[in-house]
Amino acid sequence: MQDSLRTGDQKGSKTAILQMLRLHGTMSRIELMRRTELSRATISLAISELIELKLVRETEVRQSTGGRPATSLELVPDSHIILGADLNDQMWILGAFDLLGNTVGKLQIPYSRPVPEAAVQALTEALPQFIQHLDKSILPVIGLGVPGLVDTYRGLIRSSAVLGWQNVELGEMVERNLGRSTVVLNRSRARGLSECRYGAGKEYDHMIYIGVDTGIGAGIYVNRELIHGAIGGAGEIGHTTVDADGPLCLCGNHGCLQMLAAAPAIEQDTRRLLRQGEPSTLLGQPDRDIQLLKFPEIGAAADQGDPLALRVVEQAATYLGIVMANLVNLLNPQAIILGGPVPKACNSFVQTAVKVMRQRSMNLLSAATAIRIGTFDDIGGSLGAANFALDRHLSFSHLLPAQGK
Ligand SMILES: [Zn+2]
Repeated sequence: MQDSLRTGDQKGSKTAILQMLRLHGTMSRIELMRRTELSRATISLAISELIELKLVRETEVRQSTGGRPATSLELVPDSHIILGADLNDQMWILGAFDLLGNTVGKLQIPYSRPVPEAAVQALTEALPQFIQHLDKSILPVIGLGVPGLVDTYRGLIRSSAVLGWQNVELGEMVERNLGRSTVVLNRSRARGLSECRYGAGKEYDHMIYIGVDTGIGAGIYVNRELIHGAIGGAGEIGHTTVDADGPLCLCGNHGCLQMLAAAPAIEQDTRRLLRQGEPSTLLGQPDRDIQLLKFPEIGAAADQGDPLALRVVEQAATYLGIVMANLVNLLNPQAIILGGPVPKACNSFVQTAVKVMRQRSMNLLSAATAIRIGTFDDIGGSLGAANFALDRHLSFSHLLPAQGK
């Protein structure tokens, strides 16, 4: 053991192996050689040290052709724990995960005032007790998923309309308080990363996640890694123009996708038509307060065939389908994962969006694109943020026993 520790990881081969097993799961030595481009001798030596350190283990994989099971390698999932938190309507959802994305702890942490200081203070106060009960080595990093445009390289929230925050140095604030390397990214990108590695997208190396909620955000993943762009803004599809003369958006542009296809747009359109006297099952009792009508009810009515609800939902989904078609032509993904409450609650929304996407994208590219619905609930953002933090900060020294909790 001590020899292994002294060996270190100067050439980064052990980190590279660990990273491959994290991103792509169980694989053979030959597959590892191919993906890491390390020599057989280097792989062999590194793996025996990683096995000795109980970070990697051998496992038998049954062959589809029958015959003897093959020996593959996998991470020892519970050797370490990673932390992530998702900022969501005056509440953090803090999660602890093993190296294969299994949730080992979850805590909702409300904060009293909608200002950065209160949010950071609530997280700082709750964390020590949360990790006290986790009987494992906790890596000294944390990932944070937040709404808005985030400069991931600086841990800076440039602008978040949902939170009403501008230029908040969230990464630095949390790092100072928690003493952990802190990584901040947009929460849609984080939610997509968890789908990409552990959820509906885990069969695909190249995929796009689209979250439809009160806004619309996306993440683009190539070789199971998030594409950032210059400052972390790659995936802001909610602010692509779909109607040049459409309504004014908080970003200053007119006719952004999220002004026409997110839940508030569907709610507003439905209310407007109801006030104009169009018949609908949504009216229900005569004293019904239309202002209280929310998306889940409208989505359910659309799925049950209510003509008004269906028309509104299909109009919104058509805009999304156009943007999906553009993405398919632009990036040729293997899959698009639709996440967030709108696609999950409304089948007709999904069907229309996919139909329009198939009509408007190139046939061969459309045929190569699978559509899936996201599998994670509210833990997805925390899991993705934790993974992203580890992508940024995974080093062999973090994983050594002496460096544990
Ligand atoms: Zn906009």
